[in-house]
Formats: sequence, C-alpha cells, structure tokens
Amino acid sequence: MSDLISHYINGQTVAGASGRRGDIYNPAIGEVIRQVDFANGAEVQAAVDAAQAAFPAWAATPPLRRARVMFRLKELLERHMNELAPIVTEEHGKTVDDAKGSITRGLEVVEFACGMPHLLKGEFTENVGSEVDSYSLRQPLGVVAGITPFNFPAMIPLWMSPIAIACGNCFILKPSEKDPSFANKLAELYKEAGLPDGVFNVVHGDKDAVNAILENPGIQAVSFVGATKTAEYIYHTGVAHNKRVQALGGAKNHMVIMPDADMAQATDAIMGAAYGSAGERCMAISVAVAVGDQVADNLIERLTPRVQSLKVGPGNDPQTEMGPLVSREHFDKVMGYIDAGVREGADLVLDGRSLNLQGYENGYFMGGSIFDRVTTDMSIYNEEIFGPVLSVVRAPDYASAVKMCNDHEYGNGTAIFTRDGDAARHFTNSVQVGMVGVNVPIPVPMAFHSFGGWKRSLFGDHHMHGPEGVRFYTKMKAVTARWPGGIRAGAEFSIPVMG
Ligand code: NAD
Repeated sequence: MSDLISHYINGQTVAGASGRRGDIYNPAIGEVIRQVDFANGAEVQAAVDAAQAAFPAWAATPPLRRARVMFRLKELLERHMNELAPIVTEEHGKTVDDAKGSITRGLEVVEFACGMPHLLKGEFTENVGSEVDSYSLRQPLGVVAGITPFNFPAMIPLWMSPIAIACGNCFILKPSEKDPSFANKLAELYKEAGLPDGVFNVVHGDKDAVNAILENPGIQAVSFVGATKTAEYIYHTGVAHNKRVQALGGAKNHMVIMPDADMAQATDAIMGAAYGSAGERCMAISVAVAVGDQVADNLIERLTPRVQSLKVGPGNDPQTEMGPLVSREHFDKVMGYIDAGVREGADLVLDGRSLNLQGYENGYFMGGSIFDRVTTDMSIYNEEIFGPVLSVVRAPDYASAVKMCNDHEYGNGTAIFTRDGDAARHFTNSVQVGMVGVNVPIPVPMAFHSFGGWKRSLFGDHHMHGPEGVRFYTKMKAVTARWPGGIRAGAEFSIPVMG
C-alpha cells in the first residue's frame, strides 16, 4: 500500500490538487501509517465529468454484459480475499476473520447484481385497450454517489456500487477518510473485471467533498450510511438539490430476552452481537432487555466471566476476539459514555476502561463493559455509544420491553429470544423497527432482501440492496403503444379511455 491514497477517476489514480490531506491511523498501534488526499469541488467535478462521459455507453450496454462484469468481480474478490481483509484490519482494527466476513457479505451483493437481467425485467400487458399494449421498464438514473462510514469500509461500498452499476449507472464513491484504502483496491478490481473507465470512481475527503457531491447538479442520487446527525443533513441537503437520497443512520438495537429463552444461546448471541468488531456495528446489540429480574440476574451471571475473558488484541493476531476502537477520538467518546453511565447511577458490573495491552500501549484498546440496571432516562440508554459497552435494562414484563423498543428514537435492528411462538409473532408484528431477529441477534438481511431501519435510523424511502436497491437506482417508465393497424381515424378531444 502506498504512503498516500489519492482519488481514482476515469480508470486511473489522480493526485489530489486541493492541498488538503488527512492522516490514516493504524488503531492497534495508534500511529499514522499513510495519508489520504481530500477532494475539493473541482476534483469532485472531474469525477462527475468522467462518470457523465461514460454513462451513455454504459447505460446502453446490455444488462447481461453488465452482469458479466459482476461475475468477474465476484471471482476477483474471492481470489484476493487474503490480501483485501488485512487492508480493512490495518485501518479499521477489526479482526481479519471479521474483515473477511464483511467482504463476503458485500460479495453477496455482487452475486445478487449478477442477476440484473432478470431484476430489470419490466411488466407487460397485452391489450390494455383494443389493440393497445402497455409495458413498464426500469432505466438507470445517470451518475450516482455513495458516501460511506468507517465501520464497514468494504461491505458498505459493496452494498451500493454493484447494484447501481449493474443497473446501468455510473458511480462515485466517497469512502470514510478513516479507512479509505479498500476503496482504491475495489476500483482496481472493477477495472480488472472489465468495467469501462469512468463507470466507478473514488473521490476521497471530508465534508468539503461531501458538500460538493450534494450540491453537484450532475449527480442524480446519493446513498449514504453513517451517523444519524450526518444522515439527516445529507438527506435534507441532497433533496434540496433535487436528488434522490437514501440516508441510513445510527442505531440502538435492543435484544429482548424472555423468561423462556434458552439462556446459553442468548448469552452466546450477546457475546458476538455486543462485543464483535468492538461494538462498532450499526446492528450491534447495545441494549439487553431482560424480562424479569430472574432473567437479568441469570444473564449477568453468565455474561460477566465471558466478557472478562474476551481476548482483546490487534486484529491481525488470529487469537484476537476483539480489536481496538477506530480512533483516539472515538476511544475517548466511548470512555466518556462509561463515565456518564456511572454518574447517572447505572450499575457498572464490568469496567473495560482500565485495559492495558502490553506492547500496544498506544493502541485504542478497551475491554468489554457491562452496565446493569440501566434506565430509559440515561444517556447510555438513549445515545449510540458504538463501542464494547452493553446496557442491561430490567423490564417487568413483555409489554414494557416492546414499549421500550418502540419508544426509542432509533429503529434499526432488534431481536427477541424466546421459545414462545406467539410472543415471537406478536413481537415481529408490532415492534417499530426495520430489521427483526427471532433468536437471531444480528438480523442483517441477505443481499437479495433489503437492509434498512425505521424512525431516525433511515431518512428516505428506499432500503439498501435487494429489490429496494434496484428500485432506488432506476426510474420507472411506462409505455403505451398502438400500431397503425389499430389506429382509428379522427381526432379524440376527450381524455383517452381504454377498453
Ligand atoms: P459519520 O457520519 O461520521 O461519517 C460517515 C460519512 O460521512 C463519512 O464518509 C464522512 O466523511 C462523512 N461526514 C462526516 N461528517 C460529515 C459532515 N458534517 N458533513 C458531511 N459529511 C460528513 O459516520 P462514521 O462515524 O463514519 O460511522 C459510524 C456511524 O455510522 C454510526 O452512527 C453507525 O450506526 C452508522 N452506521 C449505520 C449503518 C446503517 O446501516 N444504518 C451501517 C453502518 C454504520
């Protein structure tokens, strides 16, 4: 990997011209390992120009040939998995196994996009009126952009770009400035897969680059994933500039544990869902809602030794179960939340703040923490911590557990652990959350379904990937056709009525 990550426009690496750059850290050692160029408006414009120039030919390329590029991309991602995952680990901190899993979840979207000829098939009605036929078709939007967060530098660009591109659009990716290197590798792989220059471009940067994307009239649609505050801004600014926008935001995912749940299974589930990737997942379980004191006591008793013995270490050590947090700033923020929880009166059963990892003293490592007796007025309950901190809330009964999920401002994911089919069915029907698990702690939909939350976890109308992704990246056209043989002589001045 070079010392400087630059933009990738029109099939080649383009050095930054703005004079602004950011530092990229390895969070395991707390040191700057390379830098990334930050784009200004002119550099974003260069990417838009390249994408606009490539668009007519790409949109006219038969969907089958566009899909063949995706088949080759799938093979390349598989072949290069062992070199791609460490890039994610080095800049993000997650374990190599976790990085591979995240690339695989992205790869599944590439596999979905391989079926684009089928997905773009429209509808046809013969004889909507006498000798009049009607059909609908889906056409690409033009140039579209994706703005992505730090926590999944591979998966989230792969949620967006394969579908956008297979639908016939040209794509501009603005990845997180914290871990931007994977984006350039992806650009190289797209090119190797046979994608024409200008169809996939990468501009790096911070909010200047984002604002240039939002304000650029040459960009038709923006897909965003990140924090709720940013998502809301992206949505309103993008819409004000006449763009189609889907903006996915933050989360506070509740896992409801019923008295009849298999507690061993529930404990295993929480371990991965709360502490995997150091809690830096938008689908992480950050709140365990124990229904009844007995469930809560049982859960705490089982969880505490497990969390205490979590193997924390650098993501490239195969023994590691939990890597560092992404940055010093984020580490301080998570520490601040643990302080706040103690101040607000929650019971800190396990304190991860004092972890000291020999040989990695400057890394952003933290042990797992557990708060018990968290209440709904506390900041650790209401705000997204995005770290390895679990809040256990004691609910007196099932109805108050569901009410908690429904009253929370976020509605990304949730899960219920129970053996009771009626409770599970009632929960899946009534909970005001976009993605629901039944004895599944992280119910991330597969690529051929769509991903998205409710309430302040998503701004816009479309969820991501799956059928919703195809709808987002295409516009519908309806055609009504009559051939000369069916045309009656004479002008008609009243509104046409078929049949
Ligand atoms: P972030 O909002 O800080 O950054 C996301 C992107 O927006 C980055 O590319 C960044 O450069 C840009 N950005 C940041 N601040 C901006 C500003 N003021 N103006 C314009 N652009 C700006 O998010 P993050 O810290 O990278 O990611 C973590 C967040 O993402 C968490 O809140 C997490 O829940 C959320 N997330 C949500 C989902 C989901 O599917 N709902 C998935 C993953 C992550």
